[in-house]
Amino acid sequence: MKYLIIGNGVAGTAAAANIRKLDSSGDITIITDESTPFYSRIRLIEYLAGEAGEKDIVVYKNEWYEKNGIKLRLDTLITDIDKDQKHVITTTGERIRYDKLLLATGSYCFVPPMTGADKKGVFTLRTIRDADEVINYARGLSRALIVGGGVLGLEAGNALRKRGLEISVVEFFPRLLPRQMDPDGAEILKAQLQSMGFLFYLGAKSKEIAGNDKVQALILEDGTRIDCDLIIISAGVRPNAGLGKKLGLTINKGLVVNDRMETDAKDIYAAGDLIEHRGVFYGIWPAAQKQGEIAGINMAGRYDPSGSIRTEIPRGSAVYEGTTMSNVLKVAGLDLAAAGDIDADGKCESIFQKDREKFTYKKLVLKGNIIAGCILYGDISGHRRILKAIDEKKDISGIKEALARWDLNAL
Ligand SMILES: Cc1cc2nc3c(=O)[nH]c(=O)nc-3n(C[C@H](O)[C@H](O)[C@H](O)COP(=O)(O)OP(=O)(O)OC[C@H]3O[C@@H](n4cnc5c(N)ncnc54)[C@H](O)[C@@H]3O)c2cc1C
Repeated sequence: MKYLIIGNGVAGTAAAANIRKLDSSGDITIITDESTPFYSRIRLIEYLAGEAGEKDIVVYKNEWYEKNGIKLRLDTLITDIDKDQKHVITTTGERIRYDKLLLATGSYCFVPPMTGADKKGVFTLRTIRDADEVINYARGLSRALIVGGGVLGLEAGNALRKRGLEISVVEFFPRLLPRQMDPDGAEILKAQLQSMGFLFYLGAKSKEIAGNDKVQALILEDGTRIDCDLIIISAGVRPNAGLGKKLGLTINKGLVVNDRMETDAKDIYAAGDLIEHRGVFYGIWPAAQKQGEIAGINMAGRYDPSGSIRTEIPRGSAVYEGTTMSNVLKVAGLDLAAAGDIDADGKCESIFQKDREKFTYKKLVLKGNIIAGCILYGDISGHRRILKAIDEKKDISGIKEALARWDLNAL
């Protein structure tokens, strides 16, 4: 049995590991256009900051592949798939056969239409190669600008700040982290980041990148000119769905799969940032990992059970039910827990505490007798209890007074 996996991120690697658990002798090959064995994209932030080297962020070294009998082909780009002949085709025209194929090609950074985005000094951050390019380019420069004030943009900005660059952030929304923060919380986050040296342009639309061949400034729609030496665009991701498109597979927010991680094409599975499952595109590590596991189990599981498959995991029966979006985050090294309805418009009853001096903000959003959501910034103590109470829709009618004093013992 030949298992072929395109993509050596967490989805592809989790799939390979799970195939091997079930099929001790099948031939497993992972192909990637990158030059590094499986590494943590999350830790690219530390890499960019100079706090971790390549060997620190590599998750599986060569020995892991050898021990598990998994072949890894680096620097190999797949450009086509012949699903009738069951071959994938590389840039050099080489054809590689498969019995079961997994598409785990992840996502790429979205660059909004902007004049000058092709100039030298404009970057996105997705791979170790991207990080190296930014690090090399940034040497001797002093001003970086981040387009996008979401978690990733702020993290990337903070990494370059640690390298001594001055950081400006341009965000289309009038506040930072619009999905996780209400206006009051975002104000405190902004004040704290400003105290660390960040400069912000909120409610601002980027229009053009100025400079001859190299970046010199970002021009906003209202004409404001922000001088800078390099730009990182952090405006979300899109699925790397080109291969699926060529195969005629359904692509909405991502490549559509069923609960077993199967695509519409026979013996072709998909997992990770590439996919859409039950209408949801995740773009987060834990979801990609789980989907990879499920795909691997099902890829191995459909093989003839009298063959080399071991049976401790029910064959072919693994089902993906979805992943809860992670709600405990680090933003530029600062703690944030946000969940449920954060009541950004301030329409609901709420209990809150804010301390501008200490840069903390805590809010419980109440609907009737339950906690419908929360924001905890700067001090996230008690977050587990709160998240549990939100999940369980716990009746808080008898403990509202205690909660108003931020006494969480009764939760
Ligand atoms: C800087 C950064 C920080 C992040 N922080 C967090 C975080 O804190 N928490 C969180 O949950 N998530 C975070 N994420 C997102 C998380 O890393 C992704 O959700 C996860 O890596 C997706 O894994 P994947 O296996 O689906 O795809 P990927 O990791 O993108 O792997 C896909 C691989 O396939 C390769 N590939 C694509 N097309 C081809 C082809 N045609 N031929 C050969 N190879 C191909 C790609 O080059 C890539 O190596 C972060 C991402 C980045 C970039």
